[in-house]
Amino acid sequence: MPEKLPEKIFREDGLRLDGRTPDQLRDLRIEIGVLKTADGSAMVCHGKNRIIAGAYGPREVHPRHLAQSDTGILQVQYRMSTFSVGERKSPAPGRREKEISMVVQRALEPVLFLEQYPNSTIDIFIQVMTADGGTRCASITAAALALADMGIPMRDLVTGVAVGKINGKPILDLSDKEDKWEEGAADMPVAVMMNEKKITLLQLDGQVSMEEYEQMLNMALEGAKKIYEMQKEALRKKYNSELVGR
Ligand code: UDP
Repeated sequence: MPEKLPEKIFREDGLRLDGRTPDQLRDLRIEIGVLKTADGSAMVCHGKNRIIAGAYGPREVHPRHLAQSDTGILQVQYRMSTFSVGERKSPAPGRREKEISMVVQRALEPVLFLEQYPNSTIDIFIQVMTADGGTRCASITAAALALADMGIPMRDLVTGVAVGKINGKPILDLSDKEDKWEEGAADMPVAVMMNEKKITLLQLDGQVSMEEYEQMLNMALEGAKKIYEMQKEALRKKYNSELVGR
């Protein structure tokens, strides 16, 4: 059943409905190497989002007419499971899933050296098992880790986080309820190459002043910094456990 939206989005004490401060991330748990059948994989549990990304390649391109003789390509497929949201989602991929697949692909491409893999593809499959707002950002975080787990050279990781505005107040990492709130609201998903200090995705839905925009961007970068540290820590943990297991 779809959840009803609350009457107020901030509590009497000024905190958000889930008790977070405006600049607080939801809980985040990351696991690397969760799929035995993929070349690289990761699971990101961000708030109530549960997202798995599996990466394959570099390998032969299918369908073959997509192959490019001077460079490799990155193909991304983002899908939400039928049971991932309150209202049954059609199993057929909709326009939103196609758009998010493209957005994730473009956010990740800048970290790869695709020119080193002519006629080849790197494929990433992303499955959202539970969705609770900000799935494109959590998908980017997971997919970047799946690529890193695959062991190919990368310029940096990519970290996704959304920032928004509700009733004129900037807030970090919107939940589904906050995402759906319409009064004085804006939503801005951002993806960053933290080490290279480059932004690879920035979408904005809603209206914000220049001042609000700067405030929101800074908030997103602070949040991304924390997620980036957790991404690196998760990779280190996997790498160390492999060394111990040898
Ligand atoms: N959502 C939903 N049903 C759908 C698609 C999305 O309930 O068919 C919810 C889901 O929680 C998602 C949120 O709406 O995370 C926001 O979706 P949006 O398109 O803004 O993308 P996202 O914030 O997940 O990147």
